[in-house]
Amino acid sequence: MKAIICGAGIAGLALARALADRGWEVVVLEQARGPRTQGYMIDFFGLGYDAAEVLGVLPRLQELGYDVEAAVFVDANGRSKGEITYEDFVRGAGGRLLSITRPDLELALRESLPEAVDLRFGIAPVAIDNHPDGVRVTLADGTELAADLLVGADGIHSWVRAQVFAPEQECLRYLGFHTAAYTFRDPAVHARVQGKFWLTHSVDRQMGLYALRDGQVATFAVRCSADPALPDDPAAVLRAEYESLGWLVPAAVAQCPPAGELYYDQVAQIVLPRWHERRVVLLGDACYAVSLLAGQGASLAVAGAFVLAEQLHQAESVDEGLDGYERLWRPIAEEKQRTARKSVRWFLPQSRAGLAARRAMLALIRLPGMNKLIAKSLAGKPSALVTELHTVGRGQS
Ligand SMILES: Cc1cc2nc3c(=O)[nH]c(=O)nc-3n(C[C@H](O)[C@H](O)[C@H](O)COP(=O)(O)OP(=O)(O)OC[C@H]3O[C@@H](n4cnc5c(N)ncnc54)[C@H](O)[C@@H]3O)c2cc1C
Repeated sequence: MKAIICGAGIAGLALARALADRGWEVVVLEQARGPRTQGYMIDFFGLGYDAAEVLGVLPRLQELGYDVEAAVFVDANGRSKGEITYEDFVRGAGGRLLSITRPDLELALRESLPEAVDLRFGIAPVAIDNHPDGVRVTLADGTELAADLLVGADGIHSWVRAQVFAPEQECLRYLGFHTAAYTFRDPAVHARVQGKFWLTHSVDRQMGLYALRDGQVATFAVRCSADPALPDDPAAVLRAEYESLGWLVPAAVAQCPPAGELYYDQVAQIVLPRWHERRVVLLGDACYAVSLLAGQGASLAVAGAFVLAEQLHQAESVDEGLDGYERLWRPIAEEKQRTARKSVRWFLPQSRAGLAARRAMLALIRLPGMNKLIAKSLAGKPSALVTELHTVGRGQS
């Protein structure tokens, strides 16, 4: 069996590995010219952690992960307004949580691919011919590829989804925030933010800073915006909207890279009535983006890839495998989306009163057992789906 995967992000790479393990011939098409080097820190836990373990990549993720001591909220003068200790959160997740940058997560998945996987950078599909028993894909250079399955793992603004399922405006649910992320080099800032994840304690907008091991500082920014439209010059918006936060933020925004090197997007979810159509299926943010409010999109990308591969492997036919994937995985993804939507109101304080409420909550977290409770409520309902499928799969082979 042969699969073409559009997108060498977290979902696409995890699926390439899982399908190759199950004897599939795999071609991965990635529009970017090379591996991603810029990115933000990801908390990786839950079903994705389970899936990384059964895929055999967990030891490498642990090696590339960061030891984060705590998340600290600071005012414009750098004074601490509250702190969440990571150790308690890790304990809340049963010890199964790691912090890793998005490029490092992709690196670990890429390194795990067998040589037979045909991973092509700098190329994207331009046309899809979808049949009941196969798919033909035309690439930008005119090449045609035939396969049993095309997987759209091409992220929240999926091109595959727009061709086969629905235009973006029909399935993107905007959650009211814009977000940005980039890295920069500043030894003084790097020294100040070592070991902890620093966040501004601020109304309507927030910036987070943390030190990477290569000497760079990673920045993450989020702000409320009623208008989903993205600005023409995101770097200018970043400077104008965040500088007033004080502390190290003016130094950080002064080093904001130009548009092409800066990650800037809406915070949104994808809600789609159907994830597969004949021999085209969607995976990851392309069909069930949960948004950064859930803090689980990467985890669900890896776990969804495992479920899709395992269902295709266990089923009698591709169609049956695709039905099984959607039947098992959709309720879990939708539950995480609901959990994320519930957090919209408190994710970013929108008034002085909201800020005070968060400060009170940070104080509460210090009480014994509270961190564990909050870690559990953020994660949503626990599920053993990945380990159960893995056990069934091993029983069959
Ligand atoms: C600021 C921020 C913080 C986050 N924090 C967390 C966190 O703590 N924990 C967590 O689990 N998740 C987190 N997430 C979410 C997580 O990053 C995403 O859910 C995850 O990256 C989705 O993976 P994906 O592979 O589906 O999509 P993507 O990672 O977006 O990958 C899609 C890939 O497809 C490629 N592509 C796009 N179009 C085409 C095309 N036409 N042809 C070929 N290739 C194409 C892209 O270049 C990209 O490589 C966060 C997200 C943000 C923005």
